[in-house]
Amino acid sequence: MTESTQILSSRELMDLENKHGAHNYHPLPVVLDRGEGVYVWDVEGKRYYDFLSAYSAVNQGHCHPRIVKSLQEQAEKITLTSRAFYNSNLGLYDQYITEYFGFDKVLPMNTGAEAVETAIKICRKWAQEAKGYPQERTKIVVAENNFHGRTTTIISFSNDEEARSGFGPYTPGFERIPYNDIAALEAALEDDHVAGFLVEPIQGEAGVVTPDADYLRRVRDLCKAKDVLFIADEIQTGIARTGSLLAVCGNCSCEGNCERQADTYVRPDILILGKALSGGAYPVSAVLADDEVMHVIKPGTHGSTFGGNPLGVAVAMSALEVVRDEKLAQNARRLGELFREKMNEYIDRSKVVSLVRGRGLLNAIVINDSPESDTAWNICLRLRDHGLLAKPTHGNIIRFAPPLVMTEEQLLDCVAIIQRTLQEFE
Ligand SMILES: *Cc1c(COP(=O)(O)O)cnc(C)c1O
Repeated sequence: MTESTQILSSRELMDLENKHGAHNYHPLPVVLDRGEGVYVWDVEGKRYYDFLSAYSAVNQGHCHPRIVKSLQEQAEKITLTSRAFYNSNLGLYDQYITEYFGFDKVLPMNTGAEAVETAIKICRKWAQEAKGYPQERTKIVVAENNFHGRTTTIISFSNDEEARSGFGPYTPGFERIPYNDIAALEAALEDDHVAGFLVEPIQGEAGVVTPDADYLRRVRDLCKAKDVLFIADEIQTGIARTGSLLAVCGNCSCEGNCERQADTYVRPDILILGKALSGGAYPVSAVLADDEVMHVIKPGTHGSTFGGNPLGVAVAMSALEVVRDEKLAQNARRLGELFREKMNEYIDRSKVVSLVRGRGLLNAIVINDSPESDTAWNICLRLRDHGLLAKPTHGNIIRFAPPLVMTEEQLLDCVAIIQRTLQEFE
């Protein structure tokens, strides 16, 4: 950072972004300059609890010392080789992450959307090679109100008009069915050209929508029966966020070292990870699958200049070690239960909040006002004034997703801030 930017005020810095940057976001007016653990500081030095965690990319907390150390050390050694050559980190990472999540193979990418695109390509090619589907008729089933990223193909099967409208023509080959609706999936799978079902185990962007307890298991069973691929997008829900290593782990009681217990684990055929895979220090995403699926990928069929680069994989390895060593899944589960318990006590006597929902530390409250109202936005502004940062998703829903390194004392402090703020709107 140069001397001149340090003396600019928040107002001036926001003006610069607005003047020179495309307006593809509507940020809460706060300019962050520094982060450590559960805290971030703005350019004026005011401290906040981060209750968004960069959409769950910073599960390990801001600037985790172990992750920063591996970033620094690797940055001084070698950062990018491209996959034209082998690099001395990738094999070790491939071995580490496949053992960690229990799949034969990994395909490393950078952003979440790229990993989703990769999974779509793998799924289509698998269906055409293994099942002989004709290319023009191969179909992937997706859920209503999904969020899988921003590329042209991904927005083609979104039903968010803001994300979609004006960006056509759209990629064909997708069918949307209601989320959390087994009968709809059963009907969709009647079509014998379905290659896979792509779904978020909990719909984060849609407002932390949690399906029925047996939904994922029934999805998996249906997919298995029809020999179509169950593809789990755990970019937001994965890496300990929901109180287990993955949301598809369910209520397993493992010590952060996913033991994939048969009675709780709903194993997808393709697992998509991103966000917290790097603890927010670098864009790292991954697609995991077993050999019988991943073997469709051959030299020349897919790639990325940065995918699997030595810097990214060094960061990802330490980010995953932190999750395990610090037992972040267990902490998320315990604090999540406490958070919902405290919020429910408040909601019982609240007119402003109608419910709290979520799993682990991926939660949301629903504000008792229309999605078009600005109540949730105003509450987030007031939370900011009181030292806590969160953002509305879909109008009247506020997502609460702090870093998972939070202590119980900090969480209770946050609950007090949230309740005091909501009180001002009663
Ligand atoms: C954030 C997100 C993505 C997209 O990830 P990017 O890194 O922003 O491309 C995809 N799926 C889900 C569920 C996400 O939350």
